Amino acid sequence: MSLNTNGVYDNPDIIDSLASLGLEQITISIDGAQKTHDRLRGEGNFERAIKSLRLLFRKGAVLRTNTVLTKNSTAEMEEIIGIAGPYVSEMNFFYVRTTGRAKKILDEAVSFEDLDDFNKRAAQIVRRYPTINILFGSQVMRVNSVALNSLGLQLGGPDGFTRINLSADGSILPGGYAPYIDKTLNLGDIREEGYTTLQICREPAKLKQFRDRSEQLVRRCLSCPELDVRCPGINVEMDLVRQKSPQIGNPYCKLDQNK
Ligand code: SF4
Repeated sequence: MSLNTNGVYDNPDIIDSLASLGLEQITISIDGAQKTHDRLRGEGNFERAIKSLRLLFRKGAVLRTNTVLTKNSTAEMEEIIGIAGPYVSEMNFFYVRTTGRAKKILDEAVSFEDLDDFNKRAAQIVRRYPTINILFGSQVMRVNSVALNSLGLQLGGPDGFTRINLSADGSILPGGYAPYIDKTLNLGDIREEGYTTLQICREPAKLKQFRDRSEQLVRRCLSCPELDVRCPGINVEMDLVRQKSPQIGNPYCKLDQNK
């Protein structure tokens, strides 16, 4: 079980509370180097987030950072590793989902080609930091997805299969960005479910729709010449964004751009 946070706390006791939860991982969002992060998240919040990393590290928490890739942050990977790297065991760099607050920075979204360039550079950079598990490109998708198998299991990306998200308001979601894309994707409320997701997974009428869509997309990617060449494959949330907001589309899928 992991927890995602912006790492900005008015109450310093929160650090102790978080450290005491015994979570397998705490992830703090770092949207870029200081200037980039503060422009997106408010003046002074980069320093606050790094301070939280430092304090949690001292308390023995297992830490990770998440960095969304924008035109600015793609050039700042090594700077971010230099600052946050000493405190974390894992860092993840992934493209910004063009929904929610990110709709205000659509001009900063990277293109399919930018992303490919970044992934190639990242492959060189990570070699210099062997003690940190640095994820980019297809790694997260591949590790947590259900791939083709001889067991007849349904295929799909992590969301809704190996990963169920819980929001601060108690809603249970098949992906962290789901409520920003389509509120009807909510699967339930953890309090009404008795603080378990068992029922949602065992009688997954709503989850099934999400999983069916994921499987269709994975199958489409399997016949795409870009798969594992310049593209790590589909992200079901981005396909939902494409469907809900055709004017935004999915800048990370070559097939979408060719339409
Ligand atoms: S370009 Fe689109 S269809 Fe092709 S592998 Fe990537 S996400 Fe899948």
